[in-house]
Amino acid sequence: MRKPLVAGNWKMNGSSETAQGLIAGIREGVEAGVAAEVAICPPFVYLSQAAAMLEGSAVALGAQNVSQHDSGAYTGEISSSMLLDMGCSYVILGHSERRAYYGEDDALVAEKVIAAHGAGLKPILCVGETLDERESDRTEAVVARQLDVLLDTAEGLAALQDSVIAYEPVWAIGTGMTATPQQAQDVHAFIRQRIAAKDAELAGKIRLLYGGSVKGANAAELFAMADIDGGLIGGASLQAEEFLTICRAPE
Ligand code: PEP
Repeated sequence: MRKPLVAGNWKMNGSSETAQGLIAGIREGVEAGVAAEVAICPPFVYLSQAAAMLEGSAVALGAQNVSQHDSGAYTGEISSSMLLDMGCSYVILGHSERRAYYGEDDALVAEKVIAAHGAGLKPILCVGETLDERESDRTEAVVARQLDVLLDTAEGLAALQDSVIAYEPVWAIGTGMTATPQQAQDVHAFIRQRIAAKDAELAGKIRLLYGGSVKGANAAELFAMADIDGGLIGGASLQAEEFLTICRAPE
């Protein structure tokens, strides 16, 4: 049985003041009872504030990126051990915004996943196709390529044992255009089959999240699909009540 996970990706939003209210609201709502595991991924600079506010709560903390290096002369970078030190257990990697705006290719994403896992973090690996790729019938080829870079090496496969995969069609992120539950399920089933071809046990246990304009109003129908084990939530994770409605959607 896979425990659903709902993770909030705050992206580059907020202030210490708005973070204070948001974290307090989420903590309170989660304590009132949700079936899913809940995680929040604030910007780096608010991680320490979030860790202090979440002490003793079931809400997990994650970051939105990490360096592939352990330490050293990498100005502006943050290492996995620093994230652990701040109380993080998760890290989002390979988000389409990092791929598109910061040139992160499959090889770099794989290096980061392996480094984060090696340090003791649980990677949330994002995969997904652009609109152009979907319209030219390349969704499965793109997602396969993004997965295979990890599935095809022993280190990558080992890192996936403690990872979560988020299927996020790029055309659905921040656009208000959600994949239909069936469209999302089809790709999730494809991902699980692809993993099963390498490691059937892993395929059965790995959590596959859907991300892309998930809201309180559409979460339940998406999460009800057989291979969807929760969601990675962007915009809707910035409002405590909306995010909590999504957290309550998995049964
Ligand atoms: C995301 O950026 O991971 C995301 C899913 O964003 P949104 O929910 O805003 O589409």
